[in-house]
Amino acid sequence: MNKTPRVNINLDNIEQNARVLKEKCDSLGIEITGVVKGGAGDLRIVNSIVAGGILTLGDSRLKNIIKMREAGFDNKIVLLRLPRLSEVKKIIKYVDISLNSELVTLKSLAREAIKQKKTHQVIIMVDVGDLREGVLVNDFIKFIEKAIKIDGIKVIGLGTNVGCYGGVLPTFENTEVLLDLKEEVKNKLNYKLKIVSGGNTATTKLLDSNELPQGINNLRIGEGLIQGTDITHQREIDYLNSNNITLTAEIIELKEKQSVPSGKTGHDAFGNKPEFKDKGIRKKAILAVGRQDVKIAGMTPLLKGVEILGASSDHLICDITDTETKLQIGNELEFKLNYGAMLKAMTSPYVDKHYFNLL
Ligand SMILES: *Cc1c(COP(=O)(O)O)cnc(C)c1O
Repeated sequence: MNKTPRVNINLDNIEQNARVLKEKCDSLGIEITGVVKGGAGDLRIVNSIVAGGILTLGDSRLKNIIKMREAGFDNKIVLLRLPRLSEVKKIIKYVDISLNSELVTLKSLAREAIKQKKTHQVIIMVDVGDLREGVLVNDFIKFIEKAIKIDGIKVIGLGTNVGCYGGVLPTFENTEVLLDLKEEVKNKLNYKLKIVSGGNTATTKLLDSNELPQGINNLRIGEGLIQGTDITHQREIDYLNSNNITLTAEIIELKEKQSVPSGKTGHDAFGNKPEFKDKGIRKKAILAVGRQDVKIAGMTPLLKGVEILGASSDHLICDITDTETKLQIGNELEFKLNYGAMLKAMTSPYVDKHYFNLL
């Protein structure tokens, strides 16, 4: 019997996603950076992505990158989160390409690269409106003019990230900004930016509707690859496998209970004031999984008729009145996870990992 709570990881599905995405992007002249941070540095997931033919990997955590290096992955690796000054030494040692938006950091990387006699490549991030990382469009030319003069690093491209913080969606227009900037750099500074990294999973929407401006030659894809979904557009990507990582938890109590708590009510353990609809007496199941393991709002029960009512740190309460299956103590229920819930489950030390292959 496998332990619970556990994530069930379908490695073959992930490998197949890598293969399908790569083929699609190859035909359009787009290189994919396979973003593995959603798997929290899980080496078997990394392995599946590489086996699917995606050879450049990206992660936002240096810790995960070091883990990959120590396991022997000699792939090109991109650090996705802007470098901390305090980790420059390790970045130069372990990372091939970093994404950047600060001159101070670039200078520090350059000094260290010279010291370690390494070539370090950088991509300059542009903020096209999402308000996460990036140099503002109007400051870009001035910034890059200084950046390309720094000895010790090589500026190889520019990129943007949308759909992560501000919820700004990728469009033809805000993605084309990168190509205009690339052109301007060529004309004004006589410098060729080779890589134009157009975005993340959200940008696959443009790819699928043929709205991705021609000239975008790199995408950094994580969610689509691992879960086959695109949460910014609330869609499953139809040519990819989805639900490649699910969560299973075990039933520890089954009782008929009222649907509204009795007694004087205050706030719950998380400071919220829960609200209840009176549906009379219902059949309830308590599962041994909670907020320390997964993001409850990102879970969807796979068994028909199960409804998640709420959770505390360690208990998940479900209404199972409408299920057709007869459930017992010790039975397991499986849940779909959205990307946020998957991230939480993959990084929780309490959640076990179970790998399986359906193909
Ligand atoms: C996480 C991340 C990605 C991948 O995002 P997905 O939505 O998972 O595809 C791409 N670029 C950067 C900078 C990131 O931090």
